[in-house]
Amino acid sequence: MKKYFITLIFLIIHSNLNFAQSASQSVFIKAGKFFDGKSNTLRNNVVIEVKDKKIISVKENGEIGKDAAVIDLSKKTVLPGLIDTHIHIALHAGNYDAQMLRETPEYRTLYAAANAKITLESGVTTVRDVGNEGAGFADVALRDAINKGIAIGPRILTCIQPVSSTGSYDLVGYSPYLRTPTIAYIADGPVEVRKKVRQLIKEGADLIKVYMESYEKKQYRDDILTGGKNYTKEELEALVDEAHRAGLKVAAHVYADESAREAIDAGVDSIEHGLYLTEETFNLMAKKNVYYVPTLLVYQMWRDGDLFGGISPQDKIKLTNTCEEHIKTFKRALKTGVKICFGTDTFELPGTNSREIELMMSYGMKPFEAMKSATSLAAELLGIEKIAGTIEESKYADIIAVDGDPFGNPKILRDVSFVMKEGKVIVNK
Ligand SMILES: [Zn+2]
Repeated sequence: MKKYFITLIFLIIHSNLNFAQSASQSVFIKAGKFFDGKSNTLRNNVVIEVKDKKIISVKENGEIGKDAAVIDLSKKTVLPGLIDTHIHIALHAGNYDAQMLRETPEYRTLYAAANAKITLESGVTTVRDVGNEGAGFADVALRDAINKGIAIGPRILTCIQPVSSTGSYDLVGYSPYLRTPTIAYIADGPVEVRKKVRQLIKEGADLIKVYMESYEKKQYRDDILTGGKNYTKEELEALVDEAHRAGLKVAAHVYADESAREAIDAGVDSIEHGLYLTEETFNLMAKKNVYYVPTLLVYQMWRDGDLFGGISPQDKIKLTNTCEEHIKTFKRALKTGVKICFGTDTFELPGTNSREIELMMSYGMKPFEAMKSATSLAAELLGIEKIAGTIEESKYADIIAVDGDPFGNPKILRDVSFVMKEGKVIVNK
């Protein structure tokens, strides 16, 4: 009886939550200040009509019918949902190796589901996952469960696991007799590389990621975070060709400038991290439409001991150098026409993704450029620009709002007061 009563209360609450969004009824959002995701100005008093999952219209001083359902954000700044182009949803706070060795993929999937919900509630409505780091198919399962409405989280595009060569991206420091969980799909030679890409596509990957270097291997320089190169030209070309033949984009994990050059020559679509890239390389990327995802925040968190449960004194010196170089690199990128996308690489503190925007702006990125990098430009990199990234007619209604002006003060994005994903209200404070 008690169980029946609880179920009944749940159904009543649940049906009330969905009341304003029942199928075939339009909802009108009144936006006080409005950023569409691609302009260099804000508009005032915009009315957004949302029906089911999509945006029907966007009009300044638009009319709203007398009995229409209204969400009043007239005192807020309304923006497209943020798109984080570099995360690892199946990683969480604490020691990295312990997650691989002591936790099952099933446990990590549940953890990822909780973090996905927090991420969405913070205003991130889409993420690109660039490696589940040994969590089986946690990311694929979570993506599919979210798409079916079983779990709550951002739209996920995932690479499942990056492709890399023998001797790279394994857990470090264990006896070779031990079989440790796979954190990259290992493939050597063009034939094997093609086969791994095909396998990933079969398993449901939305993009392919390649590790260009691995810092476990011989270092170029000991004080910075570069490593031996993983692939030959032939292997890289096979990887990119096979991915592109299937319509998938390729993200390249890169530290050194010469690795970036090799990746760009092979035809990759984005350079991730790119800690030590030169201005010439950024110019080349601009020319070839290769995106740059700097991921500033993660290295600073790592330096400060806020990642992987702490940092050794040697690594602290290395990361301090890395961060200084990385900031200079980011400033070099700003001088060129390279398209820069918002990507945090964070997993320790889900829901703090917007801190990357704060960093990008503090190092000189113009506010509207920073916000575009997290919306329309990010959607372009992901290849979802026809359905997301801006608040425009026929796109998915991925809409967030904040109190105040995030262009003047990006810290405001830490406290998003309204989140709608595909027409469904997730947060309304
Ligand atoms: Zn990463």
